[in-house]
Order: sequence, then structure tokens, then C-alpha cells
Amino acid sequence: MRFVIFIFGLIWQVFGPIPNADHSTEIAAREECYDDTFCIESIQDGDKVNLVISKLIPWDFTLLINLRLENMVADRKLPLIRSFTARGKESVLNLRIAEPNRKWGYRFDLKWVVGLLDAQHDDQYVYSLPFGRNKSFMVSQTYNGLASHEGKNAIDWDMPRGTGVRAARDGIVVEIEESRFQGGLDPALISEANYVRIRHSDGTIGNYVHLMPNGVRVYKGDRVRRGELIAYSGDTGYSSGPHLHFEVFTITGALQHRTIPVRFRANGRNGAQLEEGQVYGH
Ligand SMILES: [Zn+2]
Repeated sequence: MRFVIFIFGLIWQVFGPIPNADHSTEIAAREECYDDTFCIESIQDGDKVNLVISKLIPWDFTLLINLRLENMVADRKLPLIRSFTARGKESVLNLRIAEPNRKWGYRFDLKWVVGLLDAQHDDQYVYSLPFGRNKSFMVSQTYNGLASHEGKNAIDWDMPRGTGVRAARDGIVVEIEESRFQGGLDPALISEANYVRIRHSDGTIGNYVHLMPNGVRVYKGDRVRRGELIAYSGDTGYSSGPHLHFEVFTITGALQHRTIPVRFRANGRNGAQLEEGQVYGH
């Protein structure tokens, strides 16, 4: 199944007065902030406008900036897509007014997602099964499974509602959703799944999906260790019955999730290839 990536398209628009023809140094700045994720500041200085991004979250996000320009020229190819990893402010591009005595303006289309563009997965890493050491569950679907994993490297384990879900790898909790309560085999419910997303040290994100309502036990920004309880499983979203869906993803140039095949330690063996219909414990 596909999980909706939350992309917020926003536009703001500035149409300036005709700037001083002598390029006097009157500086006008304007700042807008989005979704508690970042702020974008446009600093006008004479016939130039500098766009600066300030990151508000401590983990990375990927931003796609498109601009509709009137009588302005950008110093970068548009659309501009890039990830922001460092804290603080970064200049992203400069605009120049082409003909100072004509009306000029710019208009943003911004889209962003949490995560790193094309993160390189550490393929040597062996993941833990995302449940308790004394438990074992049947894999009901693996990579490219025909039921709902076509084109996706994701694993489903059938498990009763309320089963403790444990981190398969260390990381930082970057996104959570636990307010949804509907579930069933209706594609309209795709965006109704609860989840926890954990950023790994290589920039990929582990996604634990279909959690029970109010079943998340961590907060955004928490550092979690492999094996730590993060949530309780459920049946929310597009789901044929209680199960846990797990995948590791990175962000593509289209701001989509690209899922990555990973290896597990299962039934006492490292790197086990999980198969549909088989039961696995630690
Ligand atoms: Zn699944």
C-alpha cells in the first residue's frame, strides 16, 4: 500500500514597488514560517533579493522551491530541490530584478517532507524484529508482495492489536501520528494510518505503520535504542486486519518515499530473508 506523504503546497507572493533606480541601500526583509519546520526570509537590497532558509527542526527535511518570476532572474536552476541538515540559516538563492524601472515580483511554490534526499542506506546493518524477544509472528507479506507491496520493500507481520512495537534500529523519532482511528480494506483509508518514523544514523527513516489509536509511546525528538518500546500495534489505515507494516525509506527528487530492502536477525540468524507465511521470532 502507499502511504501518503504530507506535502504542503504554499504560495506567497511579493510584488514590489519599483525600487530606487540609484540602488540605494534600503533593505527590506520579510519572513514566513511553515509548519514549525522552517522559515524562509527574503531580504531585498536594491535590485537583489536573497532567500534564506532557517531550519526549526533538529533533523533533516527536503524542500522543493519553485518560483514564478516577473521581471526577475534567479541565480540557480529552478525548481530547486535540496535537503537541509545543519541547524541555523542558509542562503539558498538570489534573485535579481532584470529591469529596475518595471514592475517585478516573485511567487513561491514550496513543498517539503521530513527526510534526506537520496540517503545512502548502510546495507551492512542487520535490523531487529520490531517486537518483543519472547514473541514470534507470521510474515503475511514481504517485498513486492502482491496484496499491497507492489514496488515497495516493506514487511507485514500479522499481530494482535495492542502488541508492543519495538524499534528495529537506533534513531531519533522524527514524525508520529496516533490520532486516527479508522481502518479497513478501503483505499480511501490510506491516509488514516497511525505511525512512528525514526531517523537512522545514515539518514534513512524506519516507518512503523497501522498503530492503534493513541498507541504511540514516544515523542518527536526522542532518541530511541533498538529494542525499545515505541508504540502498540493496531489496524488503522488501509488494512485487512491487525498487523504491523515496517519499511525503511529515503526521499526521492519527487519528494516521494523510496523504500529500501533491509536484512533482519530472525530465528537466531543474521541477514535472514523473511518469507511470506513463515513465523519469525528473535
Ligand atoms: Zn504493508
